[in-house]
Amino acid sequence: MEPNMTTTTQNVPVYQNFIHGQYMPNQTGDSFAVKNPATDEVIYRVEVADEAIQTAAIQSAKQGFAIWSAMTPIERSRILLKAVSLLRERNDELAQIEVLDTGKPWQEAQCVDVQTGADVIEYFAGLAPAQVGQQQMVGNDFYYTRKEPLGICAGIGAWNYPLQIACWKSGPALAAGNVLLFKPSEETPLGALKLAEIFIEAGVPAGVFNVVQGAAEVGQWLTGHPDIEKVSFTGEVGTGKKVMSSAASTLKDVTMELGGKSPLIVFDDADISDAISAAMLGNFYTQGEICTNCTRVYVHRNVYEQFISELKTRTEQNIIAGNPMNPEVNLGALISKPHQQLVMDYINKGITEGARLLTGGKALSPDSAPNGYFVAPTIFVDCSDEMTIVKEEIFGPVMSVLVFDDEQEVIERANNTHLGLAAGVFTKDIQRAHRVIHQIQAGICWINAYGNSPAEMPVGGYKHSGIGRENGIETLDQYTQTKSVYVGMNKIDSPF
Ligand code: NDP
Repeated sequence: MEPNMTTTTQNVPVYQNFIHGQYMPNQTGDSFAVKNPATDEVIYRVEVADEAIQTAAIQSAKQGFAIWSAMTPIERSRILLKAVSLLRERNDELAQIEVLDTGKPWQEAQCVDVQTGADVIEYFAGLAPAQVGQQQMVGNDFYYTRKEPLGICAGIGAWNYPLQIACWKSGPALAAGNVLLFKPSEETPLGALKLAEIFIEAGVPAGVFNVVQGAAEVGQWLTGHPDIEKVSFTGEVGTGKKVMSSAASTLKDVTMELGGKSPLIVFDDADISDAISAAMLGNFYTQGEICTNCTRVYVHRNVYEQFISELKTRTEQNIIAGNPMNPEVNLGALISKPHQQLVMDYINKGITEGARLLTGGKALSPDSAPNGYFVAPTIFVDCSDEMTIVKEEIFGPVMSVLVFDDEQEVIERANNTHLGLAAGVFTKDIQRAHRVIHQIQAGICWINAYGNSPAEMPVGGYKHSGIGRENGIETLDQYTQTKSVYVGMNKIDSPF
């Protein structure tokens, strides 16, 4: 499908909102620019969802819901599986869009972003026809339950995994018979439009997946709209609180996937080389812009010197920053110039507050992408729990390493935060591994692994890191509501 595009004086394409199976022009003519973080150049513009678009989006969603919710789960499943095939066929084209929008390395996007999105749609397409209600006798009477869709749902996404987030929200929502109005981040709006095209091509009826574009105002419109039953949000804790408070005005159901400051605990019997791989993956993959990152790495004193010496060597020798489309590059550009500055401000705070800089600590200007928003992989050691870099989510390639002596001590220190998204432990002692992880207050935990997130496994946060889950069987329940139907088999016994 050719998007209905115009070009501007900057000679870049202008994308419209995707409503009711097609691109739709807005009336105000307002649009915003999207830059490639690796080049600092405007690559396209996108029209804002103005009032006309918003009204059309709701009307279309109502029409889409009437058709989609009346189909059997197996019919919906068949269509969604077609979309999964199209996603996989177009892997490289879609991965390139993600690289240009986010600045992340091609070597990641090509094998992770589209595939993990497709996996989740495939998983829920398979699961939905198997969802069943209950039936129980109550004397001679009985009741049964029906799992019904919620209606119109809204998805609001962050910029780090734009297409994957759109898939993770649309997969369970659509499989359960809902329709979704999706708003991607204003910084990475193209992937969701491509997903909308694919859904239509696969046979998803018009109105079932509409994409509305814009910044916070469009998000606020979604969260306050009385016809929307649920909001699934991925973003910062502060924004999550605003979304939830706005959703409360119309008593919407919410799923909140928010930020983290997750601990990785390395005991002295661990495979140190593996633990270093995990620490590097959990701090430098996607240039550190991953919510579950293990940005607090607690290492047992007995292996501390060995750990940081090997970590420094591997970081300095194996990380290549540069044009993210080069398949050799494994460290991309941060999402924007202001975000690069924010990350540098945190680094400077780390230095001022007395953390020892092991490596990195500066912005980079690689020859192959001199204008990109790069920050060198940065490691602080000898950190203490009170430092700002250890307490606050930075969302960049900045690792803080801390030393510990005792199991109970490290559990308490790991839990001493209002966030609780993820955690990891490395040890060869299986009893200790489970004992420790069971005491950690986090929703996504790994033992001798870090970062894996298959479609089958529920993910979500404890404490301020979130509410509800994505992926896994339970998420399908979160996109349905239970209707109980009581059936009387006897003549009614009434005092009236
Ligand atoms: P933000 O909270 O800034 O934005 C998230 C989305 O919300 C964007 O689409 C944004 O629009 C929109 N938005 C902003 N203000 C409002 C509002 N008042 N009402 C409704 N919507 C609004 O997050 P980032 O995009 O900066 O993403 C980074 C954050 O996301 C990190 O904290 C990270 O930890 C978290 N995250 C969590 C994940 C998880 O699964 N737990 C996964 C990935 C990221 P716009 O950007 O266009 O202004």
